[in-house]
Amino acid sequence: MKKLQSLMVERGQKPFRAVQLYTWIYEKRATSFDEMSDISLRFREELKQDFCLEIPKIHTKQVSNDGTIKLLLELKDGYKVETVLMRYNYGNAVCVSSQVGCNMGCSFCSSGILGKQRNLEPEEMVGQILVINNLLKEEGKGERVSHIVVMGTGEPFDNYDNVMDFIRIVNNQKGLAIGARHITVSTCGLPDKIRKYSLEGLQTNLAISLHAPNNELRNKLMKINKAHPLEEVMEAIREYESNAGRRVTYEYLLLEGINDTKECAMELINLIKGTFGYVNLIPYNETNKNDYKRSSGNRVHAFLDILMKNGVKATIRKEFGSDIDAACGQLKAKVGD
Ligand code: SAH
Repeated sequence: MKKLQSLMVERGQKPFRAVQLYTWIYEKRATSFDEMSDISLRFREELKQDFCLEIPKIHTKQVSNDGTIKLLLELKDGYKVETVLMRYNYGNAVCVSSQVGCNMGCSFCSSGILGKQRNLEPEEMVGQILVINNLLKEEGKGERVSHIVVMGTGEPFDNYDNVMDFIRIVNNQKGLAIGARHITVSTCGLPDKIRKYSLEGLQTNLAISLHAPNNELRNKLMKINKAHPLEEVMEAIREYESNAGRRVTYEYLLLEGINDTKECAMELINLIKGTFGYVNLIPYNETNKNDYKRSSGNRVHAFLDILMKNGVKATIRKEFGSDIDAACGQLKAKVGD
């Protein structure tokens, strides 16, 4: 909002114009400047000349039996990104992509195969929410996006400033007014950015993709661990907890025979001891891009039991859209570029 306000002032307008624009775009869902009836015709023409209200185009849409919608969206320069709508009983959550491709190179993740092509601009991330809001509007049940997880393709903290702008727009009361506590950013663990995020004064949530309880294993699964080993990540998390006064969620993907053993569970308990976070166990979505296998239901539950018996709060992530290739990165991988 602040950026838009200064942009309006630069153009000889009152800062209030920014509030009007926010209301038209996000609250009233205007799709053209012509609809903005309380803005003078002359200024509307000026806006049309210099700005656009375009949102990403839907290239492919898949709807699952459980109502999950997966979209492959086409950006202005032809790049494509994935966005997913998941329907919980408490609301509509959207999984947003933050980059085209990803440079983190996690060995189990298909989003990183081509590497990062470019960062997404704040408006391209907001655009993903607006596209979903339009689909919900078409359903005519008066529903809107209520929750956001930045867990699509990309490493949000490798596109830090744009992701922060995005969060402030969707969180703004005159923007999409999505509560901070309904917004979660997920990172593979970039310590400097975790610290920076802890000082933003946001009440948003932070998830850490841990996936392994020791450096030896984590180095194999996540290239980033070689640059920022677990000690550094855990130290940054402790600082985050104390600066932001909030707890993190540890994401832990279960790969059969790799990180789902009893020993791993015990090591994980030791690793996170003294922090307040809870563990979200993620059943792995297999892809044909690697040989990792999903841990069986029994092993997932055994792992969960060990955590719980040792006083660690943990849940198993609910799965969505399994009939339409729910795996992160799979839709894009299938359709190609
Ligand atoms: N780069 C960020 C956010 C994107 S990934 C991060 O690393 O947190 C969102 C989550 O999905 C991460 O925890 C990631 O490790 C996980 N993920 C990646 N591929 C997956 C797959 N095939 N099945 C299940 N989860 C996967």
